[in-house]
Amino acid sequence: DTAAAPRAIAALPDQLISQIAAGEVVERPSAVVKELLENALDAGATQISIRLEQGGIKRIAITDNGRGIPVEQIPLALARHATSKIGSLSDLENVATLGFRGEALASIASVAQLTLITRTASAAHAWEMGALQSSPVPSSGATGTTIEVLDLYYNTPARRKFLKSDQTEYGHCAEVVRRIALSRPDVTFSLTHNGKTIDHWNLADMDKRSAQILGTDFSAARLALDEQAGPLRLHGYAGLPTASRGRADAQYFYVNGRYVRDKLLTHAVRSAYQDVLHGDRYPSYVLALDLDPALVDVNVHPSKIEVRFRDSRAVHQFVFHAVTRALSQTSATADGQVPA
Ligand code: ADP
Ligand code: MG
Repeated sequence: DTAAAPRAIAALPDQLISQIAAGEVVERPSAVVKELLENALDAGATQISIRLEQGGIKRIAITDNGRGIPVEQIPLALARHATSKIGSLSDLENVATLGFRGEALASIASVAQLTLITRTASAAHAWEMGALQSSPVPSSGATGTTIEVLDLYYNTPARRKFLKSDQTEYGHCAEVVRRIALSRPDVTFSLTHNGKTIDHWNLADMDKRSAQILGTDFSAARLALDEQAGPLRLHGYAGLPTASRGRADAQYFYVNGRYVRDKLLTHAVRSAYQDVLHGDRYPSYVLALDLDPALVDVNVHPSKIEVRFRDSRAVHQFVFHAVTRALSQTSATADGQVPA
């Protein structure tokens, strides 16, 4: 009761710290999928398979053919605040990898049963370690890494109650895979759910990958754009008004290869469409903004879905003008097709 003497200040146990952090990083199965996919890409993988069961709640297993983890570093990979990606503040300010917080695997392992199997090219065989084990044991497998996550929130029933149906959770997972696959046509992805292959995207270029994922409706009605101004480059596809949708569900924006949902960027694109689109329609687009990593702060939010630009006005103007210019190429043609 509230009249009781307050508890003395005490440091929290590591496991509890990770479970608290997991609340931010691992809000649902799709967040686990995102973190594991980012790790696979950071490890240089060119082939990634994602196997889900029961919307990812029962099982998420991701296998990549990346560089693997040297056996002596495996325990550290699972430890909190341990990363191979940055070592100093200046690394953080120039970070080019998708991860850098050294938090994902530890957070996931604190709320699910996590097992890691990994092998580097020079190792004689693979090694395996469960998060509850103290050291790796010999295993088998090809060069690369498999991370398996079972029974999300098995030990935190209160959180487990917030999960939606398998189908809804699966939908979120599949969307995360699409976002990442759209940004990396140079990587092959396969996605299975409950043993059934749902998607398989082969090695491709951006043109083909966006058609694979967004459908031929989109590829038949979009403008390619690629503009550069000083340190800013915007490239990708802006959908024509005929490719617009009743919901904002085909809007993909990447900053330095990272999918973001950013108000400033969404607004800049939306404004560019103002003259060509009615208010109740949402443009479709796949746009990638590349800039010097020092000009953008990605360490704003634990899931890194928001970013902060050093010069947000300049970014807004640049994106607005680049998309406006692309769209204005079409208004001259009556049928709304790309001029030859
Ligand atoms: P972060 O990605 O922020 O470094 P993580 O907890 O996601 O933190 O991963 C910890 C470390 O484990 C990474 O820095 C990396 O060295 C290693 N690691 C994780 N996943 C993989 C993978 N799929 N392939 C190779 N190394 C990995
Ligand atoms: Mg990571």
